[in-house]
Amino acid sequence: MKFNDPHRKAIYSEPAPIKRSHENPFEAMVERFDIAARILELDEGFYEYLVTPARVHITAIPVVMDSGKIKMFEGYRVIHSDILGPSKGGIRYAPDVNLDEVKALASWMTWKCAIVDVPFGGAKGGVICNPREMSGRELERLTRRYAANLADVFGPDKDIPAPDMNTNEQIMAWILDTYSMSVKRTEPAVVTGKPISLGGSQGRREATGRGVMTVTLAAMERLNMQVAGSTVAVQGFGNVGSVAADLLTQQGCKVVAVSDVSGGYYNENGLDIQAMIAYSAENGNSLEGYPDAQPITNDELLALEVDVLAPCAKEDQITSQNAHTVKAKIISEGANGPTSPGGDRILAEKGTLVIPDILANAGGVTVSYFEWVQDRQGYFWTKDRVERRLDRMMRKAFDDVYDRAQQHDVTMRIGAYVLAIKKVADALKLRGIYA
Ligand code: GLU
Repeated sequence: MKFNDPHRKAIYSEPAPIKRSHENPFEAMVERFDIAARILELDEGFYEYLVTPARVHITAIPVVMDSGKIKMFEGYRVIHSDILGPSKGGIRYAPDVNLDEVKALASWMTWKCAIVDVPFGGAKGGVICNPREMSGRELERLTRRYAANLADVFGPDKDIPAPDMNTNEQIMAWILDTYSMSVKRTEPAVVTGKPISLGGSQGRREATGRGVMTVTLAAMERLNMQVAGSTVAVQGFGNVGSVAADLLTQQGCKVVAVSDVSGGYYNENGLDIQAMIAYSAENGNSLEGYPDAQPITNDELLALEVDVLAPCAKEDQITSQNAHTVKAKIISEGANGPTSPGGDRILAEKGTLVIPDILANAGGVTVSYFEWVQDRQGYFWTKDRVERRLDRMMRKAFDDVYDRAQQHDVTMRIGAYVLAIKKVADALKLRGIYA
């Protein structure tokens, strides 16, 4: 692919025909959507339909805290689209989560599901809270009341939550239980990412990181890069970053840097990822004090001279402020929204191959789909079967997006949006508008 083609630059520099703004995750999504819509010559009515969330739920969550006092929390569930099937997407707990962020994340779920060809629409939930300052009992009460308030929204054929930032298997178990109490039967398929003993899937926990590994290898193949000995930096050492780092090491890559909330860790000879995973688990999910590495800053990690940079932490890490410092040949976006539109433009000019979030981290929702299928069949697959099917679907999705990008001579991000929007728009055309 000609990454320095002036045509692509023209696409970026043209004024957007319909909407354009910055600094807000939903508007950042719309900015990419605009470019893809223009390539597809999307009808204006379809444009408005596909950019607008189908339903937005805002719910007040009263929780009796351990002190005995009532505290009010605010929760969201945004259904962006249910055109391709029931809506799907995680729930995040964070002090700074806001409605625009949840709307952006919900729409990314729509595009993600379309790219990997799973029959789901997109949704996302969020609760403004600081889980680090809450006891387990308080988190349970918060989760149950959020789930009870949204019991009419959720359902295996309607809207299916999953974990996201600061939510986990235990929280999914409480949602499963609360929903099941409300419908008077046990309904495992109402959530994914739940414990295996409650109908969870083998391989779900590792799925997002595994998908990052698969698409990274596919990109290296396209660029004729050697996998063995290639260097990797991973930002974030949670469920996505740690698994991606581990699996890429198993493939022969040398992971020279990782980071978590405690800081960055660098070793030019390659880090011992298994040892770091064990260390973090023993130290309350923190690498603080890990001995066999030099400390580096977040900015230094992003600017390392490596073959692959995998941002697996949070939004807006690579922006117009720092994208020019990035030296990696491939960026594999394990996180949702780690690169801003301003960052995209700089990386496109530099010729960096960015594997966009809606493709790179779609392994999670792909195995969520497998989990939902298994729950509904009451028949559970081996880990080997999950992994083989995941690898196949991620590889196909990568090839589809890469080919689209080449066809229109655009970045893989825009190629991914074009592919996804076309699939959803075609389905909408067939369904028509109910009146
Ligand atoms: N929260 C994950 C994501 O952003 C997984 C969503 C799901 O499995 O439904 O893709």
